[in-house]
Amino acid sequence: MTEIRNQLFINGDWTEARSSLRSALFNPATGEQITTVPVGGAEDAKAAIEAAYGAFPGWSRTSAEERSVYLRRIYDLIVANADRLAEIMTLEQGKPVKEAKGEVLWGADFFLWYSEEAKRINGEIIPSSRTTQRILVQRQPIGVVAAITPWNFPSSMITRKVAPALAAGCTVVVKPAPETPLSAIALFEIFEQVGLPAGVANIVVGNAQEIGRELLDNDKVRKISFTGSTPVGKYLLEQSAKQVKKVSLELGGHAPFIVFADADLEAAAEGLLYNKFQNNGQTCICANRIFVHESIEAEFTELFAKKLKSITVGNGMKDVNVGPLIHDRALAKVHGHVQDAVAKGAKIVAGGEKLSGGEYDNGSYYAPTLLSGVTSEMDVFREETFGPVAPFIAFRTEEEAIRMANDTPFGLASYIYTRDLATTMRVADKLEYGMVGINESALGYVQAPFGGIKQSGMGREGGQHGVDDFLEYKYLNLNF
Ligand code: ADP
Repeated sequence: MTEIRNQLFINGDWTEARSSLRSALFNPATGEQITTVPVGGAEDAKAAIEAAYGAFPGWSRTSAEERSVYLRRIYDLIVANADRLAEIMTLEQGKPVKEAKGEVLWGADFFLWYSEEAKRINGEIIPSSRTTQRILVQRQPIGVVAAITPWNFPSSMITRKVAPALAAGCTVVVKPAPETPLSAIALFEIFEQVGLPAGVANIVVGNAQEIGRELLDNDKVRKISFTGSTPVGKYLLEQSAKQVKKVSLELGGHAPFIVFADADLEAAAEGLLYNKFQNNGQTCICANRIFVHESIEAEFTELFAKKLKSITVGNGMKDVNVGPLIHDRALAKVHGHVQDAVAKGAKIVAGGEKLSGGEYDNGSYYAPTLLSGVTSEMDVFREETFGPVAPFIAFRTEEEAIRMANDTPFGLASYIYTRDLATTMRVADKLEYGMVGINESALGYVQAPFGGIKQSGMGREGGQHGVDDFLEYKYLNLNF
């Protein structure tokens, strides 16, 4: 792998943090130190905000075509560098390199899609109630955007925010997760190569609390776009109230996956396998509670258990299906959930333990796990596990499945498997979720509005709706 710049990128320059401090970054597959990264703080965040603020008037007034061309070039370069970006991601995040490349390319697609959408940020002309007037509605970029992103999708969670923000004419300050700074910095190498004007896109890695404080307190930041945990999202929302900053939040989920008696069980099991073990269960749209109709529970459990045996776990640099968990804290939470479930009567059908021996001793590896007989008293039913655990819960009636599925403060992704259209429509209507997969377990598509309701967040990312989150409406009343 070619060397990475590994610094902050502020106002078009690579720079060390003001503190000159660097912190060590570790590979979750081996426990080895990969490199060190700068520890940015409030002063660095302030400089990045100033740069973005200074660049905003120029960038927001470029033509849509000009912005579109920049975005298209970024897309081309990410695609051309996909192998390198994937390797960087696997090193710091752990997911298998093939999966990492898939994420890099999917992330690149946001630049392709928004390079087109940049040209379609249209306004409206509305007839007024007075005949001498026309009401014009323009959509204008909101200003400086702070994008705070998580470690589970180190590349695409940045591109899903930055591409629409730049398309809209906003400038950005990115604060990536401390676990995965290199994937973020590598994207900025590309932004530099395409010659984005200085200050349009800036990155500050380092102390989350300090950087976050500055992003919240600095009135030049007009919008916070966050993907991460619900507690941090609530904090950012609360703190944004002081200056009434706009906020988009993509927070935790607790996805129900409902398999009805008439479902194509093979398709449901395949869909669940992909959904549950993508990124080792560390996604906010992973199935966390699998509701199976009692009449097919035994058959479906056996089918899924058989598929689960085919999953290989190991260092993501090798040809495996699943890598390590991000760190030991994640491992402890996953195992804690399994132990709690077993203590309360669940049965381990497969897995249920930390993997050990050989390479497993150096990383946070957990066996793909299937639990049956799960009930609402267990932690797995109440909290997001964020790991490779599939908890099965039997249900009798449609009403019961819907009631249990909605019995959570979260409302991000949900899934139903049935062959019946009437069941599909009835259940999809009643599920309190932002997204419903119907005989489909993948939901992240560049064209689609990804996002949640209830305590899973606000705002949408992707598609036309995704660019809206970076725009304000301005209404002109034209009297003639
Ligand atoms: P996780 O628990 O999965 O790491 P977090 O919500 O803690 O999820 O992290 C998501 C992102 O939010 C990361 O970039 C993290 O550094 C950032 N973050 C955490 N705490 C704060 C904070 N107080 N202010 C700003 N950003 C924060």
